[in-house]
Amino acid sequence: MDPLQMVDLKKQYQKIKPAIDEAIQDVIDQTNFINGNQVATFAQNLENYLQVKHVIPCANGTDALQIALMALNLQPGDEVITPSFTYFATVEVVGLLKLTPVFCEVNKDTFTIDVNEIEKLITPKTKAIVPVHLYGQSADMEPLLAIAKKHNLYVVEDNAQGIGGYYQFSDGRKVANGCMGTIGTTSFFPSKNLGCYGDGGALFTNDDELAIKIKMVANHGQQKKYVHEIVGCNSRLDTIQAAILNIKLPQLDSYCAARRKVADYYDSAFANHPKIKVPYRASYSYHVYHQYNIQLHESVDRDQVMAALKEVGIPSMIYYPIPAHKQKVFENNTPKLNNLDLTNQLCKTSIALPIHTEMDEEQLEYITKNFLTIINKF
Ligand SMILES: *Cc1c(COP(=O)(O)O)cnc(C)c1O
Repeated sequence: MDPLQMVDLKKQYQKIKPAIDEAIQDVIDQTNFINGNQVATFAQNLENYLQVKHVIPCANGTDALQIALMALNLQPGDEVITPSFTYFATVEVVGLLKLTPVFCEVNKDTFTIDVNEIEKLITPKTKAIVPVHLYGQSADMEPLLAIAKKHNLYVVEDNAQGIGGYYQFSDGRKVANGCMGTIGTTSFFPSKNLGCYGDGGALFTNDDELAIKIKMVANHGQQKKYVHEIVGCNSRLDTIQAAILNIKLPQLDSYCAARRKVADYYDSAFANHPKIKVPYRASYSYHVYHQYNIQLHESVDRDQVMAALKEVGIPSMIYYPIPAHKQKVFENNTPKLNNLDLTNQLCKTSIALPIHTEMDEEQLEYITKNFLTIINKF
């Protein structure tokens, strides 16, 4: 059996090695390391894949979020509604721009932003909602977009974990994650569903004017060389990374399918177990399982489980151990409505098992068998 890892990038690379090696060598031969033609080609390829008007590549997923909020011209003191149960970057950029994060509870099944809690948090200062398509499952976008429209708010989708997935609207329309709101952002961090071989990110929008603004913000505030209209930043996708992504993008659907197959295997192995709550599959969402995250019953000691798994060579992770509202930098930013009880609880009971594109049945059998043995001791 191959050693178990949270993600197996080496094995994935082996399958596409000749094409990747050639693409990288091409960039080196052309020495067009910055803004080479591969970057524009990738943006176009991704536009076609997502069926969105504009893809603007940038340096990483955190920059993408920052650039989105800057392009929307949000001002210090403006309020941004966001879940606390997310990777820190989602909230970090809000703080960086001196905006105020207003933490929203998550839904008890999907762990994405609870759309029934959003309206209570809206004030005259609210400017935007930032849903996160957590673990690869879309937030419930149809009601969220309706709330945003009613209150004239921007929607920035943090789609770092959900690329390749989509949301199905009640009229049957399927729209790619990240392409429903005002702006969508993603990350090409190597372990993400569409990962490059270093850092990378992108923004998506269907708004022509906003696309121009985003490009400007990401490029020192200039449209014309040496004419700086606003203060922006410098955030580019390397040509080498774009060349790699051009090879990997055609694989994305099969990568997502492979992840879903792993989730199917886990789901059936753990079905109806009294101490394990498997990930919920919302009917509106095509879940692409960036993570396979389960909830342990409160009688189960998670630390002991993780240690026992480690002993038999099974890695596991916690996404996320500390919610944003309990991070020191945001501790003065007390949640408005409640204490985010569910968010706090999820941080204590969540455990993620290995899921990636290269897992085989032998590995899955080994993991599920051992995991159940360990859990059944509690
Ligand atoms: C990975 C991730 C980011 C940040 O992406 P980077 O490319 O690492 O900057 C932001 N939000 C979420 C939800 C993520 O999972």
